[in-house]
Amino acid sequence: MSTSTDTTSPAPPIRTTPFPPLPPRFGDADLANLQLALQSNHLSYLRAGGFVEQAMRKAERLLNAPHAVATSSGTAALHVAVAAVGVQPGDEVITSPITDMGSAIAILYQNAIPVFADVDPQTYNLTPESVAAAITPRTRAVMVIHLMGNPVDMDGIRAVCQPRGIRIIEDCAQAAGATWKNKPVGTIGDIGAYSFNDFKHLSCGDGGMVVTNDRALYERAHNFADKYYDRLRLGVRLQRLGPNYRMSELQGAVLLNQFDKLESIAATRKKLGDRFTAGITGLPGILPHRVLDGASCSYWFHMFRIDETVVGMSREAFSVRLKEQGIPAGAGYIARPLHREPVFVNKNFFEGGVWPAERIAGQTYDYDRTLCPTAEQVLKSSIRLPLHEGMTEREIDDMVAAIRLVARG
Ligand SMILES: *Cc1c(COP(=O)(O)O)cnc(C)c1O
Repeated sequence: MSTSTDTTSPAPPIRTTPFPPLPPRFGDADLANLQLALQSNHLSYLRAGGFVEQAMRKAERLLNAPHAVATSSGTAALHVAVAAVGVQPGDEVITSPITDMGSAIAILYQNAIPVFADVDPQTYNLTPESVAAAITPRTRAVMVIHLMGNPVDMDGIRAVCQPRGIRIIEDCAQAAGATWKNKPVGTIGDIGAYSFNDFKHLSCGDGGMVVTNDRALYERAHNFADKYYDRLRLGVRLQRLGPNYRMSELQGAVLLNQFDKLESIAATRKKLGDRFTAGITGLPGILPHRVLDGASCSYWFHMFRIDETVVGMSREAFSVRLKEQGIPAGAGYIARPLHREPVFVNKNFFEGGVWPAERIAGQTYDYDRTLCPTAEQVLKSSIRLPLHEGMTEREIDDMVAAIRLVARG
């Protein structure tokens, strides 16, 4: 039985066509490089003039860093960085609880202790203040995460760390193309690590790159990433322990051309992301993401927060309403801060629950006592939206229009 109110058809959704996919990332030039690599009959990075070598030299030019070391993954690059800066077993390394597990893996496998510091409610990044508050006599290094392409306040982090001799590692896995005061991220602290896994700005399936301005760190990184065989022939072979994190020529052949696209990928993402933030700024209950003055964000994805009490609905309800408007919104980034995951809560890093780092440090670290209230709040209240170079201002404006509509209730 129809009533009079049923005759008004609902307003059509703001967006009725699907969002564009990521543009093709690989092409004939990559196929040609792969063919050359195979025809060379050598797939090791040690092949003189090979693709890995070319990719390292290209990364150095592009990032304006004197030294790069290619690795098999971003996690590997981070582990190399942790080892290169001289983190010792039982040392503490301060990092953010809003990151990929790879960041923590790099610390844990070097027998060091991840210490999670809280983040800023608008940048979702570590701050100089939160890092300073987490420093103890055991702190050897800080691993900052430029989350979703948004550079951390590197001047502030340096001001806190350098006088205390604390090393700075930059996790740039989500931040290819991002800069702080016109310097590429990864070149501002002591050492930086990039990821080229298939979800990142640049992909070679899996791969990573360590960059540094420091010759001594470069030599250690190069050695560590290749079993400490001293392939640079600078000293003694097998002086220390190191894993095999080599990048093969097949990855290098695909990675090489990826770098040529970085500038345009980052510029498009920056333009779209900044436009999105401007579009949703000033709406009641909508808390936009913040990029600091001096930072250029390369937006791996986009995220903003809502104040549920002001918008009058839960984050889940808000996302559902956005999806009804044809916008592919999702809940936040990771489900919970890293230290709330079972591996940390149970300290189940190694078989049998033995954690050598804790024994060496001579004290216990109970992650259920780690308090990062802002990180918890950010992850509970954030909504994630896609953002990539295949999108145009139209997609951004549709997302903004839908958020404006839903926020009005
Ligand atoms: C992707 C990612 C990593 C790990 O990179 P892999 O190449 O997947 O090993 C580390 N840190 C952050 C912040 C990441 O996003």
